[in-house]
Amino acid sequence: MAAVDPLRGGAGGPTGIDRRDLAANLHAIIDRLLEVSERTAEEAAIPVTDPAAMARLRRIGIPARGRSLAEAAGEMLDLIYPQRARMNHPRCFAFIPAPVSPVSWIGDLLTGAHNPFAGSWLQSAGPGCIERELIGWLCAQAGFPAEAGGLFVSGGSMANLTALTVARDRRLREDARGSGVAYLSEQTHSSIAKALKIIGFHEGQIRRLPVDGTFRMEVRPLAEAVARDRAAGLTPFAVVATAGTTNTGSIDPLDAIADLCAAERLWLHVDGAYGASALLSPRHRGLLRGIERADSLSWDAHKWLFQTYDCGMLLMRDRRHLAETFQARPEYLRDARAADDAVNFWDLGPELTRPARALKLWLTLQVLGSDAMGEAIAHGFRLAEWAADEIAHTPDWRIESPPQMAIFTFRFAPASMTGDEQDAVNREISRRAIEDGFCAVLTTQLGGRTVLRICAIHPEATESDLRESVRRLHAIARSLVR
Ligand code: PLP
Repeated sequence: MAAVDPLRGGAGGPTGIDRRDLAANLHAIIDRLLEVSERTAEEAAIPVTDPAAMARLRRIGIPARGRSLAEAAGEMLDLIYPQRARMNHPRCFAFIPAPVSPVSWIGDLLTGAHNPFAGSWLQSAGPGCIERELIGWLCAQAGFPAEAGGLFVSGGSMANLTALTVARDRRLREDARGSGVAYLSEQTHSSIAKALKIIGFHEGQIRRLPVDGTFRMEVRPLAEAVARDRAAGLTPFAVVATAGTTNTGSIDPLDAIADLCAAERLWLHVDGAYGASALLSPRHRGLLRGIERADSLSWDAHKWLFQTYDCGMLLMRDRRHLAETFQARPEYLRDARAADDAVNFWDLGPELTRPARALKLWLTLQVLGSDAMGEAIAHGFRLAEWAADEIAHTPDWRIESPPQMAIFTFRFAPASMTGDEQDAVNREISRRAIEDGFCAVLTTQLGGRTVLRICAIHPEATESDLRESVRRLHAIARSLVR
């Protein structure tokens, strides 16, 4: 049993737990947690929400007198968490799944127990040092120069927002913001336009460019749009290219876009929230050629680096630009001024108080090693190829976008049905698959049509998981047209 602080005694008190019971409670909770998580693969990936359980949750309320930790934690395990999608299920192919390494949540547990304040070096030198070193390693993976740097943020949306704020400040004078124009593609993630609006741009300052047949941004229309805007007296300032789009996994032509940005003095932000992880797979990193020329790069660890939410990174080609935008020097923070060899992360982004998000990724990389991490990422590419191969050999199905970065889209498209009928039947196939529970496959829209989409990145998913999932989708489809 843990030693009891003689000044505090052992009895519960305002923090809500009897210190003498801490170890016993913790062991019991972890045992239950492991028992519950062992069952994930047998459960439905997106279970239907249970109305009775939801009604019970609404009735619990907040008690005036506290109750036992074991009882309340038991309710979390038995009642609250079951009402959620299992984003870590090996056959969850919806959204961007979250096949989390248990090492990541062990990292959460350790960090939560210590609760480091990762805003300043004074409060968090150890975790800050790890964050800086890890960011340096990630910058090296991206091929960024020595002056690169960055920080951990909550995810892709915050990384994109932070990067675009810097892009605005670096490329637009304050009095020219009203004429600034940013360029994206039709397939760019919605968080980019959202970020642009948050930092003061309106829809008329956002150009959504067409994509080619493989869903990549086309460079010629981009160059033409920039020229047209300049001729109209506007101020093009940033291009957002994507390394791994959410819909199809497509990678914009990074090198060609970087050439244009260099010639036009435009900020190049690459949204690699999903796809930058391919940099860690030696077989696949070549797909991202040109990423090293970005001014800023978003990269999420809670997507394809197997981390719990939240864990994202923003990497900057020149780390000084972050402080130029975000540094504030209020008098109450002066005592925490960082010495030359230190960094106050609160100067590098919007957050003052921030958790030490880097530590769980560091722990995972320590335990797995970067080779195994790269192999786990490469496995996702194979999974999507197996599924696409199964589709290609199943009558009446069509691949709409081939496997790219472990994502592909497809559609049940018998010649006897009109396009609208096919849309409706594909929506129904997805709905029934969710109801059936074997795998989670949702729809998206491509070229105005409804398609099914698989994003397969679970390191423990097998070829059989993928092939059998496709067979089940086909069985559902047949039952619908019979
Ligand atoms: N960018 C891309 C390409 C994404 O796929 C996503 C999310 O799926 C985001 C940005 C947003 O990331 P987050 O959900 O972590 O904010």
